[in-house]
Amino acid sequence: MNKDNSAMEKSRSYQMQNLDSEKRSELLNRTAGYGNNFLDSINTRKVSPSKEAIENVSKKLNFFPINSTDPSETIKLLNNTGSPAAMGSAGGRYFGFVIGSSHPAALAASWLTSTWDQNGGLEVTSPVNAEIEKITAKWLKEILPVAKESEAGFVTGVTMAIFSALAAARFAVLKKQGWDVQADGLFGAPPIKIVVGEEVHGSVLKALSMLGLGSERIIKVPVDNQGRMKPDQLPGMDDKTILCLQAGNVNTGSFDLAAEIIPVAKRNGAWVHVDGAFGLWAGTSPQYSHLTKGIEFADSWATDAHKWLNVPYDSGIVFCRNGENLRAAMSMSGAYLDQSGNRIPYQYTPELSRRARAIEIWAALHSLGKNGVIELTDRLCRHAKRFAEGLSDAGFSILNDVVLNQVLVSFGNAEATNKVISEIQNEGTCWCGGTVWQGKTAMRISVQSWATTDEDVEMSLDAIIRIAKKNI
Ligand SMILES: *Cc1c(COP(=O)(O)O)cnc(C)c1O
Repeated sequence: MNKDNSAMEKSRSYQMQNLDSEKRSELLNRTAGYGNNFLDSINTRKVSPSKEAIENVSKKLNFFPINSTDPSETIKLLNNTGSPAAMGSAGGRYFGFVIGSSHPAALAASWLTSTWDQNGGLEVTSPVNAEIEKITAKWLKEILPVAKESEAGFVTGVTMAIFSALAAARFAVLKKQGWDVQADGLFGAPPIKIVVGEEVHGSVLKALSMLGLGSERIIKVPVDNQGRMKPDQLPGMDDKTILCLQAGNVNTGSFDLAAEIIPVAKRNGAWVHVDGAFGLWAGTSPQYSHLTKGIEFADSWATDAHKWLNVPYDSGIVFCRNGENLRAAMSMSGAYLDQSGNRIPYQYTPELSRRARAIEIWAALHSLGKNGVIELTDRLCRHAKRFAEGLSDAGFSILNDVVLNQVLVSFGNAEATNKVISEIQNEGTCWCGGTVWQGKTAMRISVQSWATTDEDVEMSLDAIIRIAKKNI
């Protein structure tokens, strides 16, 4: 046998390992061990990976083998190189952007679901997913401030949830004008008026531009010092209007005044959409549900499970009061439609084939229980309050009313604040990012991790204060 043939033989033998249950089981068990080691080490390592660890990824993982490799060798290489380069956002001291960790039940469900390898798009390809989606949607509607009769779609994140909701809105608004946008598109369609707050999240603008509604063809309503739309500055609205409210400003955590605004919009026939990526979860707790008052009277809602609920990426949810509008916007003509008259998962999302991601949400909700969700909400907000109190006691200015889980702190001018942020990131006890709030440079602390303990908060406060004092 020449050399090439023996290599081919070896390749074949690794492919045959699919059938070797002993080797497979060893690989999966070892991988679980890698995962556990990673999680065990996360509280003792720096939150952000070293430059060297990241360089190793491009050095060591950049060889595309000609012949096959034993899967256990592939995964060993991936673990040894990838784990040290992973950002420590699964731990308790990552406070950048708005980033959740993974609840253990959700993480384990993610492993198990990947093992099942279900195509979640159709009932016929995954009956288990189709059933769990229905249960999960029902549970979510019980705890979140959305219309109980809503239909839900399980998408990758809030950007796609907003896209789906606004596609439903576009369909419904134009249908009232006698225009079928799904069939005839937007060329020649009656114009739609889009109203957003000045503090609109970029993902809403992205969704508008993907939908052909234009990210610039919009009316921006002025906001107050917390980023809330000023209700008395709303433009005239009619039944060709889509109004996008925000529940949870990404900087301040503030909420548009839904109870005041939505009745006016609805009286005028407008469609109201709510971007509640993380803020919608305030409605789960009696302590914080005043913030989401009246939000359930909107027409559509977008929220993330990978933020507040601490489910692994990627996981967002769209809710639409009238599920037929979402279905009309997301359906696809052809044979798939005519299966059974049952709820077919893909008819409520942009994707056809996809992960059975609702199963992770189900697992998080089941394990936390209704009281566990309330406790999680209260805990994230309590940690944020403690950060604000600790930093304020140390003499630093908090720029927002800390109503939820977001804290903005300034360490003086922009230069000083940026320097402190960069030193905090390098020092590695915790990780916080920078932002500019109404012209002021700030550090943003977003408490979103299920794993954050009181001790994590105190350790992080100590590090932040020590580094900041050194710089002023
Ligand atoms: C995170 C976030 C988004 C975008 O959500 P993705 O899940 O990243 O697509 C939109 N709006 C707000 C307020 C957010 O916090």
